[in-house]
Amino acid sequence: MSEKAFTAATTVEQRFRDFLLANDLRLTRERLAILEAVYGIDGTFTIENLRDIMAQTHFHVSTATLYNTTLLLVQANLLVRHPFSSSSAVFERIYDDRPRTYQVCNQCHHITLIKSRDLSTAVQSYKPRRFEVTHRITYIYGICPKCERAMRQRIKIIETKR
Ligand SMILES: [Zn+2]
Repeated sequence: MSEKAFTAATTVEQRFRDFLLANDLRLTRERLAILEAVYGIDGTFTIENLRDIMAQTHFHVSTATLYNTTLLLVQANLLVRHPFSSSSAVFERIYDDRPRTYQVCNQCHHITLIKSRDLSTAVQSYKPRRFEVTHRITYIYGICPKCERAMRQRIKIIETKR
C-alpha cells in the first residue's frame, strides 16, 4: 500500500470510528471488514455485489449486518446511496470532496461518471448558508444509446405489424 493510500485508509477508518463513537457504537471486526470491502470497490455496487465480495474474502457476515453497516457508512458520509429507482439500492464510496456528475439512464438505470470542468467549478462555488456540505453530486437524467436503439427497434417492429 502506498503512503498516500494508507493515509486515506486511516482517515476513512478514523471518520467511521468517530461516527460510531458519537452514536455509542463500536467498530467491530465485521464493521471494519465491511468498510475495507466497500472502500476496495471502484465504482458503484449493490448489497448483492458486496455480499459476493465478502464471500470471496471468506469473512462471513449476515445480509442484515451488510445492510445495517452500509446504512451507517451512508450516515457517516463515507458512502453515498444513489437515488435511482432500480430494484436494488446502488452505493458508492466517497473518498474525496471533489464534485461528481453522473449521467443516469431512466430506463436501464445505468450510471456513468462524467467529467465536466464547467459543472465542477459551478457546483464547487456554491456555498450554502448554515448547511455543512459533505459531498456535491449532480445527476443528469436521460436515455442511453443502448436503450434508445432498443426503443427504435421496438417501434419499427410495432409499425411493420400494423
Ligand atoms: Zn439505458
